[in-house]
Amino acid sequence: MLNNNHIEIIKSTIPLLESAGPALTQHFYQRMFSHNPELKDIFNMTHQKTGRQSVALFEAVAAYAKNIENLAALTTAVERIAHKHTSFNIKAEHYQIVGHHLIETLRELAPDAFTKEVEEAWTEAYLFLAQIFIDREEELYQLREKATGGWRGTRRFVVTDKKPESELVMSFVLTPEDGGKVLDYEVGQYLGVQVTPSKGENVEIRQYSLSQAPNGENYRISVKKEGNNSDQLGLVSHYLHDEVEVGAVIEILPPAGDFFYTEVNKPVVLISAGVGCTPMQAMLQQLAKDGKSDPVTYLHACENEQQHSFIDEVDTIVSAKGWNHRVWYREPLSAEGINNSSTGLMDLAQIKDALPTNVGHFYTCGPVIFMDHVVKQLESMGVERERIHYEVFGPHANL
Ligand code: FAD
Repeated sequence: MLNNNHIEIIKSTIPLLESAGPALTQHFYQRMFSHNPELKDIFNMTHQKTGRQSVALFEAVAAYAKNIENLAALTTAVERIAHKHTSFNIKAEHYQIVGHHLIETLRELAPDAFTKEVEEAWTEAYLFLAQIFIDREEELYQLREKATGGWRGTRRFVVTDKKPESELVMSFVLTPEDGGKVLDYEVGQYLGVQVTPSKGENVEIRQYSLSQAPNGENYRISVKKEGNNSDQLGLVSHYLHDEVEVGAVIEILPPAGDFFYTEVNKPVVLISAGVGCTPMQAMLQQLAKDGKSDPVTYLHACENEQQHSFIDEVDTIVSAKGWNHRVWYREPLSAEGINNSSTGLMDLAQIKDALPTNVGHFYTCGPVIFMDHVVKQLESMGVERERIHYEVFGPHANL
């Protein structure tokens, strides 16, 4: 159990952590993957090349140390991470391995500062946090396993439809090979998709938002082909686009995620850019199914008409319901555009009077730079943070 002495020691090692910076987590990962190569099948190995994951883990360790006296401040982060972990099928035994390498990393990088007392404090602190995750993740695993259509771990799904939504985005409909039902989910949640790409060396798991409302029978994901430089192609997205055809079987982990639509009987605005429109399709469909009576607005930004996904699907819903709809093309290919389109970056000032800035709830998803831009505009219009909900398609970033 963590005591006051441990807490004081953890706090005193914050400068040490900060001076080590992401080098600490780089060392940690190198150490862990050389001793436990089986974990390469769980972690995103592209992130190891690009350094994204090193930064994310370092930030998580530093945030934990800084909030050691006020762990309630981490509740939202713990929930988000626990959901993400379940989509990787993280198990209790993985925490032992990670904890061991974290402690050994600290010892190796700061042998003088890493006294017996520091080791004891960090071991206790790590075990304490790990137990919070282990308990919450077990709870989530059991909830999903026991629900109708639910399961635990991976389940084999057949690709029963594959359809381009735009130049770069392809939808895949996934139906259980065993012929059973599928677990319902909250609109906005994602699946863990586990594949072994022919061009990779490991099993890879990626998250893909569910892009349709739940129907009990199948799931739909919509995947953007990432990267256009031949040595920087997205491993899983290219594999899915280029090699996974109708009839193929892929392994799926149950729906997860703490970003989802919550009905509060207020107007709602769905704001996306690029492939960030995927959770918005599920939300839009669900709102239509539920007969949402408050105003709904669908706003989308993308590069041009060819990269504009789900044009007809969105149009069918918003036209039938009389909901608001606007699109921004950063660089349109034609002068005409489509109905309700603007040129350039999304500029909410253009439609300010039509936005429910006083009471509405705003859901946004897209590149972090885009969401930053959107959140700043909403805040300048008086929308409080509690009414802005967002999802990051990668290691988390605070907006
Ligand atoms: P990776 O191989 O993981 O590469 C990641 C990025 O790095 C790519 O852009 C790639 O081009 C680039 N890269 C590769 N090699 C290098 C290198 N050597 N140097 C520099 N850069 C490099 N994606 C969707 O398309 N649709 C969704 O609905 C969706 N939902 C998501 C929901 C959540 C909650 C999360 C976390 C992510 C979601 N994603 C979604 C993103 C998705 O999980 C993958 O991250 C994405 O498909 C890229 O995976 P990949 O294997 O193709 O790319």
